Amino acid sequence: MDLTTIKSMIRIKEDFPKEGISFKDITPVINDAKAFRYVIKKMCEDFYGRDIDLVVGPEARGFIMGSAMAYELGTGFVPVRKPGKLPADVEKYEYQLEYGMDALEIHRDAIRPGQRVIIVDDLLATGGTVSATAHLVESLGGIVEAFVFLIELTELGGRERLKNYDVKSLVEYP
Ligand code: IMP
Repeated sequence: MDLTTIKSMIRIKEDFPKEGISFKDITPVINDAKAFRYVIKKMCEDFYGRDIDLVVGPEARGFIMGSAMAYELGTGFVPVRKPGKLPADVEKYEYQLEYGMDALEIHRDAIRPGQRVIIVDDLLATGGTVSATAHLVESLGGIVEAFVFLIELTELGGRERLKNYDVKSLVEYP
């Protein structure tokens, strides 16, 4: 298995979910046992033995990649969700989209001050989702060690937005 093979397995769906969007579908990758295992190990590569306490992932594909990484690294996993989905006391962060606002929530008791976390999602585009996730982590006193993605869309400014952090991605598209 190698990253060229992984890239060939990512399904590109034009005009999904809206006209003009070229959607990168990772389901064929996670459907294949060898490919799934390979990408998770690759995404974990820099973090073995690095004292990471938690992996944090936004819904929904961040749950898939993030919980597999947490299992592999031997850490806990923390879900970040759209408002109204988490049952206990939450911290909420609202952020601007191109049109309108969005918000994400995290359980207040999910991270203790000083815990070291990595934030994981399937794909980095503008970086809005993971920046909001980092705000939530930091508002609870967590330390963001790195962001990790399977896919990076390099022309949407995500890496620039995260320039004060360590950012890792496996496969790039313009
Ligand atoms: P951002 O917040 O603009 O960086 O967008 C990233 C978020 O949107 C991630 O949670 C992705 O799962 C989702 N996303 C955006 N574009 C795609 C795509 O082409 N394929 C899969 N997910 C996408």
